[in-house]
Parts: sequence; C-alpha cells; structure tokens
Amino acid sequence: MECIFCKIVAGEIPVTPIYSDADVLAFADANPQAPVHLLVVPRTHYANLVELMEADDPALLARIFSVAAQIGRERGEHGFRTIVNTGPDGGQTVEHMHVHVLAGRHFTWPPG
Ligand code: 5GP
Ligand code: ZN
Repeated sequence: MECIFCKIVAGEIPVTPIYSDADVLAFADANPQAPVHLLVVPRTHYANLVELMEADDPALLARIFSVAAQIGRERGEHGFRTIVNTGPDGGQTVEHMHVHVLAGRHFTWPPG
C-alpha cells in the first residue's frame, strides 16, 4: 500500500485525530498554510474528487463536507476556506481525495 493517507487511516502513520468516525477521518496538515489547517479524508481510497463522484456515494460526499463545515465553524471564528485540489494543475500532491479546511487568518482571492 503506497498511499500515505491510506496509511494514516490504517494507523500506520500516527496522527492526532481531530474527528473520526466509520467513514471519515480529520487530522492536522503536516505543512500548515494557516493557523488552522486540517484535512478531511474518506477512509475508503478514492484518488481524487472525480473518482469519488464516479463511485456514486452521495452520502459519503455529504459526510466529508459535513465534517469540514463543522470543523470550519468551530475553528474559524470569522470564516474558513475549504479546498479540494485535483490533478497536477489543481495542485494535488496526495492522490487520496481530501478536503483542506483552513482558518485563523484572512485568505485572498484569486488563489495563486
Ligand atoms: P494536496 O496538495 O494533495 O491538495 O494536499 C496534500 C496535503 O497533505 C499537503 O498540504 C501536505 O502538507 C499534506 N501531507 C502530506 N503528507 C502528509 C503526512 O504524512 N501527514 C500529514 N498530516 N499531512 C501530510
Ligand atoms: Zn489512499
């Protein structure tokens, strides 16, 4: 198994869970880009958002974003940003679908 987030889900790479249930795990990004920078991942491996959508599992998609919204609401006093990078041009570096939740500072638009 080469996928780093599958290893995290399996407990082979330790993280401090921010949120955990049967379907979803949230933990701190190892290279934070904001005072709050968390990742929400499905326990099942999907390489990216497109693969997840092709799996036709709207309940899992809803769970992922429900957790992201909950974390953002709790940790982003003045708001937060959710990001899903897909593919090389999207800036995706880990090929296991994940949602970034960033908070604790103001984010500019457009992104770089
Ligand atoms: P992407 O660039 O694919 O959208 O986001 C991948 C994120 O995973 C990056 O922000 C990177 O810092 C984070 N990351 C990569 N490897 C690890 C790891 O082993 N542990 C944790 N906690 N985060 C990681
Ligand atoms: Zn994986």
